[in-house]
Amino acid sequence: MKKVLLIIVTLLMANVQGFVFGQKVICHRGFWDTPGSAQNSIAALVKADSIGAYGSEFDVWMTADGELVVNHDKVYKGVNMETSTFEQVRAIRLDNGEKLPTLDEYLAKGKELKIRLVLEMKSLSDLNREDECVAKIVRKLKHYGVLDRTDIIAFSINACLAFKKLLPDTNIYYLDGDYSPKKVKSLGLKGIDYHQNALRSEHPEWLTQAQELGVEVNVWTVDSPEMLQYYVDKHVDYITTNKPVELQELLKK
Ligand code: MG
Repeated sequence: MKKVLLIIVTLLMANVQGFVFGQKVICHRGFWDTPGSAQNSIAALVKADSIGAYGSEFDVWMTADGELVVNHDKVYKGVNMETSTFEQVRAIRLDNGEKLPTLDEYLAKGKELKIRLVLEMKSLSDLNREDECVAKIVRKLKHYGVLDRTDIIAFSINACLAFKKLLPDTNIYYLDGDYSPKKVKSLGLKGIDYHQNALRSEHPEWLTQAQELGVEVNVWTVDSPEMLQYYVDKHVDYITTNKPVELQELLKK
């Protein structure tokens, strides 16, 4: 009974946050700034889900031998994600003791949860490798049946367009901050996912342009209370943050 109540309360909280307030909280690299967690760990994904965040962002690399792994840094603990073999990458332990996750492990866990998966594909050293990586990611998303709960983000416009070709109905967002919302829309992408400075000091007019054109806006990585409040007041669709609990509190006010 207690468990059922807890589930109902959790769902209500997620609804309040997601639909009444409109703005959605995306945990940057999962909810990692909490005991037992680490950036891009399976624990971070589970913890992001447990606090009722709308989405959990994570980063995907393709190793030299074509395996997909979840990690942010190109060189992590001395190992280059792109030029090393899967065996070398897999030997890395995250700071919470987990093995560096494979995309398979991430999606298998994600499938069990409610949270939306915000998959960032990292830019690779050449476009052929990027196309190969896109095709492999798409196969995995289909295999795990999580396409309808996944959003795709990338700095590489090549990757964004390759995803768009294979997944015309999936939400794809461009990260690099150099295209206007109008241009992003003309490419068939769902929205922009830009650095906080790009939309505040460099191109504040793009916020209005995006809203007028129906281009969704996500902004990263917003952590300071002042910046969080700024983007809450601007009614952006999504805020990507390392401080999801603080943002949830702000949205409740
Ligand atoms: Mg990322």
